[in-house]
Amino acid sequence: MSLEGKIAVVTGGSRGIGRAIALRLARDGAKVYINYVSRADAANAVVKEICDAGGSAGAVQFDVAQSDAVQKAFDGIIAEAGTIDILVNNAGITRDGLLARMKEEDWDAVLSTNLKGVFLCSRAGGKIMMKKRTGRIVNISSVVGVTGNAGQVNYAAAKAGLIGFSKSMAQEYASRGITVNCVAPGFIETEMTAKLKKDVQDAILKSIPLKVLGQSEDVAAAVRFLVSDDARYITGHTLHVNGGMYM
Ligand code: NDP
Repeated sequence: MSLEGKIAVVTGGSRGIGRAIALRLARDGAKVYINYVSRADAANAVVKEICDAGGSAGAVQFDVAQSDAVQKAFDGIIAEAGTIDILVNNAGITRDGLLARMKEEDWDAVLSTNLKGVFLCSRAGGKIMMKKRTGRIVNISSVVGVTGNAGQVNYAAAKAGLIGFSKSMAQEYASRGITVNCVAPGFIETEMTAKLKKDVQDAILKSIPLKVLGQSEDVAAAVRFLVSDDARYITGHTLHVNGGMYM
């Protein structure tokens, strides 16, 4: 069950859920490339944590929404590591607001990072996986991609889009031994959710049957399963990690 010898790329691996995924994959033996967009300090801290624990990692700066930067970064990783076995498309942002007042730039920013970014990284990473006839792609969607959420039309559209994207890519890449799945977290305690007001957080907690907020490690464990050999026959699936918030 070891990931020894595997090369993984985790977008947005510098903080929150992506950081937990990077740590988990590295703990289980993968060499992990940690992507970030602006917080080099945070990404380097994750690299140090992995290396101090005896693992192998590197930090790679690029904006997942910038086509040229994505291609250059993936080319660089492949030149250095020889391949990419695992791609976790985790980078994401929120720009919340009610539809009637939502600025076009907030719509564009969320769709670019959360949806177009996954397209660009999957296209770049998928190329080498096609050649090697093996690979694992996991896209981090969200519970609101299936339930919707007032104040998040941009975010919910992107996260729902990811589910359709993953099913379609799964069909296109299946004959090459590549699986493509989503993990859809519910409410996970990270910097992203810390921005929410206390009363909103309390209301969310009430709606979770397991009555606890999720941790980044809960999401990392689901990703770890989907990239394992045990999940070799699972593709096009969305695995919900939400304490029962949506069933
Ligand atoms: P955080 O805000 O804690 O971290 C976001 C990460 O994404 C950072 O590493 C950040 O890099 C990176 N990032 C943001 N924009 C870009 C970009 N354009 N290019 C490359 N990297 C970028 O988020 P979370 O850990 O909370 O969320 C991670 C994922 O999980 C997201 O896709 C989110 O939508 C999803 N999710 C989160 C939930 C939650 O409850 N927290 C629930 C459901 C889904 P940097 O450090 O450089 O800024």
